[in-house]
Amino acid sequence: SDHRLIYPSTPEDMDWSALFPSFVADTEAARSAPETEDATETVIKPSIKKLVKDIEVVDVGCGFGGLLVALAPTLPDTLLVGMEIRNQVAEFVQDRIRALRAQDSQGKQYQNIACLRANTMKFLPNFFRKGQLSKVFICFPDPHFKHRKHKARIVSTTLNSEYAYVLGPGGIVYTITDVQDLHNWMVQHLEAHPSFERVSEEEQEADPSVAIMRTETEEGKKVERHKGQKFVALFRRLEDPAW
Ligand code: SAM
Repeated sequence: SDHRLIYPSTPEDMDWSALFPSFVADTEAARSAPETEDATETVIKPSIKKLVKDIEVVDVGCGFGGLLVALAPTLPDTLLVGMEIRNQVAEFVQDRIRALRAQDSQGKQYQNIACLRANTMKFLPNFFRKGQLSKVFICFPDPHFKHRKHKARIVSTTLNSEYAYVLGPGGIVYTITDVQDLHNWMVQHLEAHPSFERVSEEEQEADPSVAIMRTETEEGKKVERHKGQKFVALFRRLEDPAW
């Protein structure tokens, strides 16, 4: 349960260096810094290693990581993280990414994706600053059919405010599900939120991430095999009104 989940008290306290070793700022600086013989000039590194860039894309409940792996080459300059609550599943995705990285002799591919074990229903603002993200994916979330279980749904009035907090203006929430009732629920709750507007179908279908979300998620593949329907809806983070 949650008491065993590790999470930072603020985004500044989060050390991403082990997940994104190719993007650690210190090593970059060390490589490009002119050599000096004066040992007193050695900078004492702070215990938290910063990255050269911020994470911008989050896959909420990433499952086995199909979306991350497929998105990685399409967004080569962007850091993406999948968050997954099940420990063994998160470890599987971490191993999967490690293996993919090792296959690339140049050491460049799949460096921009990582998976973290986390409960996104509780700790999202602990990991990301206000406005930090440009995309949040919510793919085939658990439907929680029973009425008394609806509070466990990953889209809700409260959680939508957290997505609004971590997304910058213009950022997009991507949703997909094969459960029409859950689709209606997500649309209703995101449309009702003052920080979001629905993206037009035309714009939605022109977004390359949408095709990937439909076909490359493990759940998307499963629905394909069963010839089920997939319901997609995208929402744009609006500017905060000037008071
Ligand atoms: N997105 C993946 C896909 O489309 O293939 C997985 C979908 S699966 C039906 C839902 C996933 O969300 C599961 O792996 C589950 O463990 C994860 N999950 C559920 N609640 C979560 C939470 N609060 N935080 C992080 N992950 C969660």
